[in-house]
Amino acid sequence: MVRGEAGTERDGSFAAGTAVSAASDEVSAPERRDDAAARQAMLTDEQLLARLIGFDSTSARSNLPIADFICGYVEAPDVALFRSPSADGSKVNIVAVKGPATGPSRYGLILCGHLDTVPATEPEWTSDPFTLVERDGAYFGRGTADMKGFCALAIHAFREADAATLAAPLALLLTYDEEVGSLGARRLVDTWPPDRPLPRQAIIGEPTSLEVVRMHKGHLKIRVTIRGRAAHSGSPHLGVNAIEPAGVLLRELAALRERLERERTPLGELFPDVPHSVLTVARIRGGEALNVIPELCVIDIGVRLLPGQDARGVVEGVQAACRAIEGSVTADVEVVGDNPPLLTDEAAPVHRSLSEMLGQSGSRGVSFASDGGWLSTLGIDCVLWGPGTIEVAHKPDERLPVDEFVRARELLKRFVRRFTGSPEDSL
Ligand SMILES: [Zn+2]
Repeated sequence: MVRGEAGTERDGSFAAGTAVSAASDEVSAPERRDDAAARQAMLTDEQLLARLIGFDSTSARSNLPIADFICGYVEAPDVALFRSPSADGSKVNIVAVKGPATGPSRYGLILCGHLDTVPATEPEWTSDPFTLVERDGAYFGRGTADMKGFCALAIHAFREADAATLAAPLALLLTYDEEVGSLGARRLVDTWPPDRPLPRQAIIGEPTSLEVVRMHKGHLKIRVTIRGRAAHSGSPHLGVNAIEPAGVLLRELAALRERLERERTPLGELFPDVPHSVLTVARIRGGEALNVIPELCVIDIGVRLLPGQDARGVVEGVQAACRAIEGSVTADVEVVGDNPPLLTDEAAPVHRSLSEMLGQSGSRGVSFASDGGWLSTLGIDCVLWGPGTIEVAHKPDERLPVDEFVRARELLKRFVRRFTGSPEDSL
């Protein structure tokens, strides 16, 4: 699940090898470790989850400690391990692959999770958020549901898969900064070498209570900066108040919101709770002091778009709203984040096969965004599927029912076997 601000990263690089903390300017060959004896001992799923929860991988922090640990845990002679560092090298996406090469048909399966979490600073936590605690039939801790529970299962499904018997490749993709706008996934999309194709089918383990989801809304973040002129409030004729016109703009934005709410698309009905796009005036800042005519007013707007809806149209709508106040002030409109919607074909092998295995009919959509929006731009068919519910994510006492975790393990193992057992299944 994504929330918060997004930014963009550029001039990226892609590195392979074991030195997670080192950013590299060039793409290098994958490193394969032959030192099998040095391999870390296998943990139980619960122990691995406890280790992952123990790393404070809040998006604001580096994810290198948790990434280092996971790389050490999955590396083996039959594993190709790649790292895709952030521009400043403080964070890294991990891609681990085993089994046959995917080739131009891009068969095989990706298990994808994000390693970052939202902060756990709420005073209502009844136990340490970075210590896994089991009570009342659930695991408590930041990230248990969103989404270290799935990550633990995916890491084990990957580690346990026998490369010699895989008929199709199996990949593990663990990203950074999903919670602040899928920056890691976007970075991967921008820097992944085109001559190294990834499997075309992916499960992203967002908490969906083990329902297969093939669609989600996007999240477009727009900033309007209103500029007036500062002056001492005793001499108002020398200044231009930037906050007052914001009131007019807010009314225009409310009208735009209502218009968007009335707009229906055929896909809207797959989001029964909120079958339309949503515009939220989420934050407003302006003014310095009571005796100063404010020079600036900044309005941040989040827009959750339905799959297939055009982001440009909404940006133009905001620009049109701004024309109502332009004259004495200026209003600049800027897109500060763009998580694309996810719309995976119903007939995509991963959707069809997982739904069939689970006995699920029909299609599901959710209102939160994920790494799937960006990853699908690499031609990857993504479904969301994972244990836990989004209802408890981003809240104090985040939890994951133990029985769901256990069921997810069995289902994931079964699906990986089924999907990577023959190339035909994963095409
Ligand atoms: Zn998530």
